Amino acid sequence: MKIVIVGGTGDLSRRMLLPALYFLDADGLLGPEVEVIGLSRQVLDRDGFRDMAHAALKERGGEHFDEAVWKRFSERIDYIPADLAHVQGAEALKARIGGAETIFYLSVSPSLFDGICVSLKAAGLTEAPNRIVLEKPIGRDGPSSAAINGAVAQAFAEDRTYRIDHYLGKETVQNLIALRFANALFEPLWTGRSIDHVQITVAETEGVGDRWPYYNDYGALRDMLQNHMLQLLCLVAMEPPASLDPDSVRNEKVKILRSLRPIGPGEVAQLSVRGQYRAGVAAGKASGAYVEECGRPTDTETYVALCAHIDNWRWAGVPFFMRTGKRMVEKRTQIVIQFKPVPHSIFPGAGGGDVLANKLVIDLQPDEDISLLLMNKTPGLDRDGFRLSPLPLSLSLATAFGGGRRRIAYERLLLDVIHNNSTLFVRRDEVEASWAWIDGIRAAWADAAVTCRPYDAGSWGPVAAYNMIAQLGRSWNE
Ligand code: NAP
Repeated sequence: MKIVIVGGTGDLSRRMLLPALYFLDADGLLGPEVEVIGLSRQVLDRDGFRDMAHAALKERGGEHFDEAVWKRFSERIDYIPADLAHVQGAEALKARIGGAETIFYLSVSPSLFDGICVSLKAAGLTEAPNRIVLEKPIGRDGPSSAAINGAVAQAFAEDRTYRIDHYLGKETVQNLIALRFANALFEPLWTGRSIDHVQITVAETEGVGDRWPYYNDYGALRDMLQNHMLQLLCLVAMEPPASLDPDSVRNEKVKILRSLRPIGPGEVAQLSVRGQYRAGVAAGKASGAYVEECGRPTDTETYVALCAHIDNWRWAGVPFFMRTGKRMVEKRTQIVIQFKPVPHSIFPGAGGGDVLANKLVIDLQPDEDISLLLMNKTPGLDRDGFRLSPLPLSLSLATAFGGGRRRIAYERLLLDVIHNNSTLFVRRDEVEASWAWIDGIRAAWADAAVTCRPYDAGSWGPVAAYNMIAQLGRSWNE
């Protein structure tokens, strides 16, 4: 089997894809027949590409890099200089790979997906069992995503098209599926009868830096919320699938995406906040404003907060708050399931009356951890009754299963592509349903003239986001 990384010399390939394949090899998970071929236009020979890969793996692998594993892995690596947007490039590739089963990983700009698929088809490289892996973003709105998906479908059948959302490769995200569907405990509580609201936060400390030409065209809503955050929302909210089979899971996710209540111009100002960072101190360093990084005035949001509703029986009346931003006070990816308080407290009196509602906190970054906050009696002989305090019941993966190396999300996903398992990949109808909802919000922002609120780099975002959630009777989990 051949794995062709189109864009093999690029950033994603060096930081994620080659390291993920290396670690699969280190764990004995790559069969002897697997060959990894880097492909880019840059003229390099095999040794030049291997040197580049060696340096990248040493840097990424750190203490886990092993020269003996590298020696074995390097034997699998080859490189072809070719422009895959032209059929001559695909013909050159075909001359190298012949009729072997091949995975094409498109680690290039999505504007090239169409041309590359045309070339691969013209060279006769798109028949089963060959498959294609697509990186985000699939388009910048519904129509452009439909155009890309349509072009890819001309060359590869949907069941051989793997759309990556690397969040789905994270251990804790898969653990969320296990938590929900391998424990009888949660399911009866997993509804609006017991859950008050859900919060999903993706906070980054980095700014946009050199990526501003891409980012300025997208903004936080399209860059993070349309894909990663809506995927997390789907896994929290979906009905139990009949099995882990790809279509069972994805059918349930797409039902959630189609049940998202549209946010129109009339309510968009109450249910969303756009923000943009100005100068401040982030991660201990003075940092400039977003407009300085861009070198021009711009209204692109680097922060967004939203209140979503899912119109179905399970989630009627339960707000799903989502927020994401750059240059925030800390790096945090977290899902909070906030349960309702007990209906009546039997613990009145000083120190005993604070019965906090339970919450399930699922941390994805920086640490992977799941904890359930439960109320406990504080040990002691308080004369005026019980003194209560919340204590977390923690399911730390690192503690339970030992430290060791934290896997790169792409390891799981690449292994699944090798084994033809698309459960953790995004189906075309999911992408299009999520764009439909996001496009509606963008149109509402334009109609209602919702502009960006400034926030200090190194903060938790604009004050308006606190006001938004306060007006809806809740507060952010910070
Ligand atoms: P990048 O550093 O710009 O790399 C692009 C690669 O594509 C280069 O190796 C480039 O090499 C090659 N390339 C460009 N045109 C080509 C052509 N016609 N034929 C063959 N190769 C060609 O970009 P990246 O950051 O790795 O990102 C790649 C994709 O992953 C993008 O879609 C991006 O949105 C997505 N992504 C990246 C990250 C990340 O962390 N970097 C995260 C999520 C998603 P030559 O110029 O030599 O051809």
